Amino acid sequence: MAFALSIPLDAAQGPEFARDVCLLMAEATGLDRAQVLIEPDRRLTHEEEAKFLHLVAERRKGKSLAHVVGHVAFWNRRFRVTEDVLVPRPETETLIALALEEPFRDLLDLGTGSGVIAVTLLAECQDAVGIACDISATALAVAEGNARSHGVADRLHLEQSDWFECIGGDYDLIVSNPPYITEDAYADLAPEVLHEPRIALTPGGDGLAAYRAITAEAQTHLRPRGRLIVEIGYDQGAAVAELFREAGLDEVAVHADLDGRDRVVAGRST
Ligand code: GLN
Repeated sequence: MAFALSIPLDAAQGPEFARDVCLLMAEATGLDRAQVLIEPDRRLTHEEEAKFLHLVAERRKGKSLAHVVGHVAFWNRRFRVTEDVLVPRPETETLIALALEEPFRDLLDLGTGSGVIAVTLLAECQDAVGIACDISATALAVAEGNARSHGVADRLHLEQSDWFECIGGDYDLIVSNPPYITEDAYADLAPEVLHEPRIALTPGGDGLAAYRAITAEAQTHLRPRGRLIVEIGYDQGAAVAELFREAGLDEVAVHADLDGRDRVVAGRST
């Protein structure tokens, strides 16, 4: 099979499908996407063709592209993902940008999943150390692999913990992208999202349970003037900011993502 045979055929099914096919072709051949597009006559080896057809079949089952190829790009790095973790979304880069606005020596990432937030922040701040926790042991195994592949494993301690349950110490920075989808909204999610762990997406009920758990103890684990920064759903700004204030946090602010939708709440300990 030549590239040209597979790509235009599937392109007829729409631009998104064409993009996916191009990415899957790149994955199957080890080329980058640009090479796939400029070499339409290159022929696939039998092995590449078998891999490509397998990847297309997986995508057709409704799995996200990230789960099909097993990795996703975030803040210019590649992270491994499995069905044990939430797939990192571009919106979460808003939290990273905000966290990097000030220096920090140590951080705590609550509900780390693939480890994307803690690993990115430690990779960007070579002098910092951190703890990343998750209730899921299988998620922690994915985070560990990502910490290794980005050279931060010696500065990141991984801990199995239900929010603060097994966490001691004080930190300059606490970050989290907790499950925040409401029970009702979860029922309406796109089928490909259902390949992600339910506990990574929704705490049930009104979607705020994780923020209640985090804000209740954040001050205990932050150094004076330390920062708490959490990702939120686009309509949760007011409610989460109120939880921050009730917990006595200072300088509470809601920040928008690149689409202009509320995405992050930040506050500072007193
Ligand atoms: N941003 C994800 C979504 O909308 C949710 C991530 C989360 O719950 N932390 O699917």
